[in-house]
Amino acid sequence: MKRALSLAAALALVLSLTACGAPKKAETSLFAMDTYMTLVAYGDGADEALTESARAINELEQLLSRTREDSDVWRINHGGGKVSSETVQLLARALAFSDETGGAFDITVAPLVDLWAINSDHPHVPSQAEIDALLPLVGSEHVSFGARESAAPGSYDVAYVDEGCAIDLGGIAKGYASDAVKEIFAAHGVKSGTVSLGGNVYVCGMRPDGKPWNVAVQDPQGDGYACILSLSDTFVVTSGGYQRFFTAEDGTVYQHIIDPATGAPARSDLLSVTVICPDGTRADAYSTALYVMGEEAAVGFWRLQQDDPFEAVLITADGRLVCTPGLTDHFTKQEGASYEIQFLSR
Ligand code: ADP
Ligand code: MG
Repeated sequence: MKRALSLAAALALVLSLTACGAPKKAETSLFAMDTYMTLVAYGDGADEALTESARAINELEQLLSRTREDSDVWRINHGGGKVSSETVQLLARALAFSDETGGAFDITVAPLVDLWAINSDHPHVPSQAEIDALLPLVGSEHVSFGARESAAPGSYDVAYVDEGCAIDLGGIAKGYASDAVKEIFAAHGVKSGTVSLGGNVYVCGMRPDGKPWNVAVQDPQGDGYACILSLSDTFVVTSGGYQRFFTAEDGTVYQHIIDPATGAPARSDLLSVTVICPDGTRADAYSTALYVMGEEAAVGFWRLQQDDPFEAVLITADGRLVCTPGLTDHFTKQEGASYEIQFLSR
């Protein structure tokens, strides 16, 4: 089920290319970070760029996985220890996103992710007492860094969490991996390509025919698309309650994004949030956070970010598709999708 849905997300990238005169195309797919990934690159460096990207994604999974026993995240969650500077930098960014989003995005939500176990084969609806027992373990103050004597002055190489606490980078790791792919594409001179790491899309440059890429936003209530965005050189990340969820015996649907304030799956008035910006890590953290916030707080948050703006598509439970104004010239309504389209004013 999960795999099929992830594949659907990957296929949401609408490719319509003309064959004639097209530059060399290379394509690869892999299963990593619990999702299907497809990467396409054009140009002379395309093969090398894809080989290196796949290797980088696997290496990042090795560092950031919660379940691999020799990963950095495993070490942090099991008494702490020496970790790579890359992991430390990503952790520092994750904590900053938590701060910025008022705790809506919070990697220390891990004990509650485990309690509900929504992404597992054995999801569980816990009692309020079980939730209350874990809520004090959530918060950035439980994550610490230390420097070993051998470390360069001012650099940290040890990370740990307080007793009972844990971190989960599932809300940010794919975005971070997509940023790594962008750098690898650039290093190999790839000027055109598309990358879909589950719901995390990166569109590199323009299509070989010189037009922008078409990225479809999935309809959270059906198999089709809600709208199409024509974009270049940016990241498009969707979070939603419809991708990974389970239905309890009483019919209640529990999705996989936890509201760190309540310790329960977020009861969002949004069905999905798509964030578009030139930073894949930020887009990933924000899409998770805005889903938790719900429409009103998400729009308020967007307004506050005018110095470093991002674009977003919010699909609401009451049938509206709310777009930020920067998307006006990039937006095509999908025939057959019934959402009422609304553009926010600045
Ligand atoms: P996906 O992984 O399906 O692309 P997200 O980027 O929204 O979706 O991340 C959701 C994952 O992040 C969850 O499966 C869980 O591992 C973790 N998570 C859940 N709630 C939060 C939260 N409030 N903040 C940060 N990470 C979270
Ligand atoms: Mg995310």
